[in-house]
Amino acid sequence: MKYNFDALITGGGASGLMCAIAAKRHDPKLNVAVIEKNERVGKKLLSTGNGRCNLTNMNISSDRYCGSLNTEKLFEKYDAEYLLTVFKSLGLLTYADSEQRVYPVSRQASSVLDVLRFACERYGVEIFCGEQIKSLKRENGGFRIKTAENEFFGRKLVIACGSKAAPKLGGNASGADYLKNLGLSIEPFKPALCPIQVKSGVLKSLKGLRAAGMVSLLRNGRAVKEEKGEIQFADGALSGICVFNLSLYAKSGDIISIDLLPDYSEKEIYNILKKNKELFAKQTSDNLFTGILQKRLAQAVMKQSGTSDFSLTCGELTDEQIKKAVKEVKGIDFPVTQLSGFEQAQCAKGGVRASELTESFESRRVKNLFVCGEAVDICGECGGFNLHFAFVSGMIVGEQL
Ligand SMILES: Cc1cc2nc3c(=O)[nH]c(=O)nc-3n(C[C@H](O)[C@H](O)[C@H](O)COP(=O)(O)OP(=O)(O)OC[C@H]3O[C@@H](n4cnc5c(N)ncnc54)[C@H](O)[C@@H]3O)c2cc1C
Repeated sequence: MKYNFDALITGGGASGLMCAIAAKRHDPKLNVAVIEKNERVGKKLLSTGNGRCNLTNMNISSDRYCGSLNTEKLFEKYDAEYLLTVFKSLGLLTYADSEQRVYPVSRQASSVLDVLRFACERYGVEIFCGEQIKSLKRENGGFRIKTAENEFFGRKLVIACGSKAAPKLGGNASGADYLKNLGLSIEPFKPALCPIQVKSGVLKSLKGLRAAGMVSLLRNGRAVKEEKGEIQFADGALSGICVFNLSLYAKSGDIISIDLLPDYSEKEIYNILKKNKELFAKQTSDNLFTGILQKRLAQAVMKQSGTSDFSLTCGELTDEQIKKAVKEVKGIDFPVTQLSGFEQAQCAKGGVRASELTESFESRRVKNLFVCGEAVDICGECGGFNLHFAFVSGMIVGEQL
């Protein structure tokens, strides 16, 4: 079949669906189509926030993002309240948790997708699923897309295909590839918000363990980024939200240093360990952190501090050994080898460079071509920042169509 539309939106994810709704709300007469390669729209959206969808954050600010796009001005208007007003008008009730992360009150990502899907239906957005794009070309000031079954012409085109992150949920580089073919400059995708692979003699013994602490990303001895939270010790890698946030900045050669007792100073810990030396005098030295750290973690800290002879008793530990244990618990180091791959990444850095786009995300080079969501070179931290950008950029583009 051959179709003619005012606007074609490739990608029925967070940004594409919001873009279609905004376009129809802005101009109900517009003929808008969403072309989605999956059998249904919003597959990734359903997996977000552990199935609960952390759709925005009450503290949206540009310093929670990296990439070539400067969002400072954008977020002055398009903050969380703006987005939540839109979602409320679509029927979604939300709440913010103690860390200001916003979720639907239903605690189900499907509620977010449902209000978007039903709005598309209500406003008359045409959705084509299971469409594999074979070719995408400029034609007569517009764009022609051919899929295995159909042919679409649109006066305007929106690339809302996301990034390469999470390929099982539809992630791929096709959006960036289309844009590259249309002459736009692209920053290659790199995995982000993912576990960080590290090498360490003690990591194997910690596998499966979770601990609270402060993680610092060190480069040439200086902290690039610090985060407090739960660290997960995995197979050859560190994981957890705080580690994911470091992954936005980490590269091979950096060091992740974990402070396992961030609420205590070195002096306080020293005094506690001196007391423990007496309390647990007859126990083996790996019991020095009894009542403070999980056993396996305590053993790793002692080992890293040089006390690997656990036949010593706590009472036999020298002052020097206790001081080294203090240093280690305040900064146990894991050298970074690389980031985990796209399969484990929630997002990707890279995409179309900001210099290619106007403030309303239209291409400066190719008239009537727009980009929104993760296809743009911007990536936020965990906490609702990426969906926020996907939704608001989709909205801004929709209003231009
Ligand atoms: C497991 C997981 C959990 C996450 N949790 C959160 C969270 O809680 N909060 C948060 O803010 N962010 C979260 N994110 C990130 C967030 O999901 C993305 O940043 C956001 O979905 C990006 O929106 P988008 O519209 O750009 O891309 P997507 O939502 O990925 O949508 C792109 C759509 O385009 C389709 N597509 C791709 N290529 C083509 C093509 N060639 N033709 C047609 N269609 C195509 C895809 O199938 C997809 O449906 C999470 C990501 C993952 C993987």
